[in-house]
Amino acid sequence: MDEMTIGVTSTAQIPKQRGAAHDTARGTSLLEAAVSYAEERHWDVFPGTWLEAVKGTQRCSCGDPACEAPGAHPAREDWPTQATGSASAARRLWSKQPTASILLPTGRSFDVLDVPETAGFLALARMERMGLTLGPVTRTPDRRMHFLVQPGGAAKVTDLVRKLGWSPLALDLVARGEGSYVAAPPTRVGGRGAVQWACRPTVSNRWLPEAEEIISPVAYACGRDGRR
Ligand SMILES: [Zn+2]
Repeated sequence: MDEMTIGVTSTAQIPKQRGAAHDTARGTSLLEAAVSYAEERHWDVFPGTWLEAVKGTQRCSCGDPACEAPGAHPAREDWPTQATGSASAARRLWSKQPTASILLPTGRSFDVLDVPETAGFLALARMERMGLTLGPVTRTPDRRMHFLVQPGGAAKVTDLVRKLGWSPLALDLVARGEGSYVAAPPTRVGGRGAVQWACRPTVSNRWLPEAEEIISPVAYACGRDGRR
């Protein structure tokens, strides 16, 4: 096991994007996507803010001109109670506001390991070489990658990383569990583009990986990425 060997110089191939990542181009509406997450994956969903066209530019519905995640953050403070795993409730929510972003709470059906995109691609390539079944992974327009893992995984990350010989603080690896959320495809973030699947949810990855299963390639990739 040389997974964590410092100074490995092999050139990691960037895996091609799996599946058609351009949900919006294929016409999957936010409503359809939100309903399918609840119906097919049993993920909780809740509608966030949306983008509004104001004088030729797109502005977040929160009204803050300096909004950091335009059209892609919670619209109300009680979102944890609003989040629903019911497909019909999701349909009602997005029927009311069809342009609302799709936000998924973490710490329920899944936790998320949030890493820089460059590290994410490296980790994916490594996982493929290791023969791991890849769980769902999203790419965000601000160049992060979100690896979905079994709930409870976020709380274990610091320990796992330390056991692998890395200093958790030295890695740009954010573990999102209870109380946090991620935006799901095909949510658009300002003018920056849409959240996409780097690795789609499929029948074969219905059972999400445990954090333990992917932490080694993910931490390795973050460590390598951070040294550039
Ligand atoms: Zn906003």
